[in-house]
Amino acid sequence: MVANLDTQTWLTDGDKNIAFSIRHQGKRLFQQQSPYQLVEVFESYAYGRVLTVDGLVMCTEADEHAYHEMIVHVPMLAHRQVRKVLVIGGGDGGTVREILRHPKVESVTLVEIDAVVIEASRQYLPTLSSTLNHEKLNLLIGDGIEYIQQASDETFDLIIVDSSDPIGPAQGLFNKDFFLQVKRCLRPNGLMTAQSESPWFHSESLTDLTHCLRSIFEGDRVHPYLVFIPTYPTGMWSFIYAAKGDIHPWQNLDRAQAQAFAERESLQYYNADVHLAAFSLPTFVRKLLSA
Ligand code: SAM
Repeated sequence: MVANLDTQTWLTDGDKNIAFSIRHQGKRLFQQQSPYQLVEVFESYAYGRVLTVDGLVMCTEADEHAYHEMIVHVPMLAHRQVRKVLVIGGGDGGTVREILRHPKVESVTLVEIDAVVIEASRQYLPTLSSTLNHEKLNLLIGDGIEYIQQASDETFDLIIVDSSDPIGPAQGLFNKDFFLQVKRCLRPNGLMTAQSESPWFHSESLTDLTHCLRSIFEGDRVHPYLVFIPTYPTGMWSFIYAAKGDIHPWQNLDRAQAQAFAERESLQYYNADVHLAAFSLPTFVRKLLSA
């Protein structure tokens, strides 16, 4: 299917049956093999700079705001009193940038396994990495799985799992033991969100993770939601919201406050209507999750 695309200038993300390709300018701005993965940055024609890990798109400058705004502001604006946040993965910095838009946040701990991702982002993705030196940020290079095992009970108001696909070092970020630890480390009213892949392309990741989280958090406290990101395979991506207490993702929303925040911060994807709409799932996704 992609045989006619010149691999020197086309970056292709997909599997043997489907793929998405982005044309780039032919040279890598950054390329380094870390102990974990191959980290590269390309300059594309249509989506700005593209960060890839082992050839898979992590983010592009043009559409990263959809992913980062929705993984962060949905739980932040549902909760409204978040003070302490843990991010696992997310070394590009986009998630931290969005968290720090909320002035009530007192501290953010970022645990990224791969220093090379942070280095690549610092050098070539300044709009993503802009807050990686922020005074409220505690930036740790290490395995998020080990970190959460050692973290104290009831420490964080919000934990965000901004991981890569469930292969390599990120595999353990999709299993039950890990999420039991996440729940333990949340304060009584704490929330978590995790990226959970595409309902079209990786439907078993979404269904497995939803079932896993329903078995840990109470079933009615687990809410998958959707976002549209053109440069991820199929364009339709999912996140899962889970609450340790009873903070409901949309019943708890102060719409006026959420909308005012979105306008004040000049957000590009998130607004109060999108917050609500994101939880309205197409029938095929509902069926996937109820099976
Ligand atoms: N938005 C992206 C996506 O869905 O493709 C995710 C981006 S972010 C760059 C993912 C990060 O998770 C990577 O930098 C990777 O190194 C990091 N990561 C993977 N496994 C990890 C682990 N066990 N602990 C901490 N970070 C991990």
